[in-house]
Amino acid sequence: MLIVMRHGATAEEIERVVAVIKEMGYQARTMPGAQRTAVGLVGNDGRVDASRLEGLAGVQEVIHVSKPYKQVSREWKAEPTVIRLGGGVTVGGAEVVAIAGPCSVESEKQIVTAAQQVREAGAVILRGGAWKPRSSPYTFQGLGRPGLKLLARAREESGLLVCTEAMDPEGVRWVTEVADIVQIGARNMQNYSLLKAAGRCGKPILLKRGLSATVTELLLSAEYILAEGNHDVILCERGIRGFDSTTRNVFDLTAIPVVHNLSHLPIIADPSHGTGLRDKVIPMARAAVAAGADGIMVEVHPDPEQALSDGAQSLFPDQFAQLMREVRVIAEVIGRRVAEPAPVSA
Ligand code: PEP
Ligand code: MN
Repeated sequence: MLIVMRHGATAEEIERVVAVIKEMGYQARTMPGAQRTAVGLVGNDGRVDASRLEGLAGVQEVIHVSKPYKQVSREWKAEPTVIRLGGGVTVGGAEVVAIAGPCSVESEKQIVTAAQQVREAGAVILRGGAWKPRSSPYTFQGLGRPGLKLLARAREESGLLVCTEAMDPEGVRWVTEVADIVQIGARNMQNYSLLKAAGRCGKPILLKRGLSATVTELLLSAEYILAEGNHDVILCERGIRGFDSTTRNVFDLTAIPVVHNLSHLPIIADPSHGTGLRDKVIPMARAAVAAGADGIMVEVHPDPEQALSDGAQSLFPDQFAQLMREVRVIAEVIGRRVAEPAPVSA
């Protein structure tokens, strides 16, 4: 439920609304807006007496949020959420961000080289899993904590921000120490204890759509994170399971405008997992930017043929550089620009 204050409502009137919500046993979240302030009532169990709030001084109207996800919805917050990362990088504003790097962190040389290569091409965030959710327990599972150290090293060398996956609540604690963005992978989209831990970790979260998750389920999973007090959530379309094995997944481009319509949260696209095929990643990355994605996440490896995971969908560094040149033009056509890495200080 959203209590919209009148334009010019006083601080005392707003405080009174907050106090009444608390007295009723719910949480209040004050959201100052350009025109008027709104106060969100969090935890509505269906027993809220709206008339008590409607009658308070300074209240213009009480809106019942119709969607099952509340704080994530556009009804709750009309303006897009802009997530501020370090180094002046933002997600969800005018800029389109590129997150790039290998599927997994494999060695210091591999991740540092990849970081330098993707930075050179124009990425602002380095990706790479220290922990990997793999379909088979016999395949490379990631380096774990030593992999995180290597990511920290790559950040030092390149100045890029780091996005890496946490697979369980304990992993969230480790990843939070190093990462600028904590990734929750597709397989864990509905791991609710992990989502709650992510909601309390204090770092922005990249939440990937589950393999068979509807958009509503994706938004409800994001709601778990916001409900814990973390409002910095970036959604990610990474393809859903289809019946056609021509591609690894069915890359649901439509999800981008659909999510933008339903939610104020930014959404990026991962055409690497979305297609699973190197030569399909490039056109779908271009398409995602054209469709309004707030960023792209692309797997790039210094030597994809030697990659320990997802080599077949990883771009060669020069392919990524070409892709970045193309997406700069596409972004401009739709009134956006691609975020550029800050110059490296001497
Ligand atoms: C990844 O980003 O490397 C990954 C495992 O992705 P997903 O969770 O989308 O499969
Ligand atoms: Mn991968």
